[in-house]
Amino acid sequence: MAGMPLDEDVGCANCGYNLRGLTTAHDCPECGESAMRTLRWAGRDLSRRAMAFQIAQASGYPIDAVLIVHDAVAHTLATAFDKGRHTTARDVCDGFLAFAHANFHDAAEAADLLSEWKLNRSEDVGRIVWAMVNAGVLKQSPDDAPEDFDGLFTPDDVQKAFDRPPQSLGGAPPPA
Ligand SMILES: [Zn+2]
Repeated sequence: MAGMPLDEDVGCANCGYNLRGLTTAHDCPECGESAMRTLRWAGRDLSRRAMAFQIAQASGYPIDAVLIVHDAVAHTLATAFDKGRHTTARDVCDGFLAFAHANFHDAAEAADLLSEWKLNRSEDVGRIVWAMVNAGVLKQSPDDAPEDFDGLFTPDDVQKAFDRPPQSLGGAPPPA
């Protein structure tokens, strides 16, 4: 198995040697500690990247595509949890469009990056979500199916999302 490239400074958990430039498949050249074990100690950002790397390999999508879907799903789940109901594929796709709107400068940037990331339609979001389900990163409900993501949005809908005012994201829910 190919390891995830360690492209930022990370000190070996045992001896502190900088493992940058190696991969998670390597051992520390100084002391032999496994780089994967160091990664588990290294904190949240790197474990998030390790998750994204794993899902990217499984789904065939770029790491950046996995990261934006992961963040959009996390936001959508948090919102649905506040409302006390089950999250559907439609919720995830609406959440993804709102998240894209909030995180890209404009419709042109969204079109460029989403196309570069092969993340053009709801089916693409669905494939990444189901790779996360299969890897145990997300849980499914018995009535969830990959086809739930079919035909929920197209590149046109992404562009139209920018014609509306952005939804607020991540803040406290409005008072009841
Ligand atoms: Zn070491």
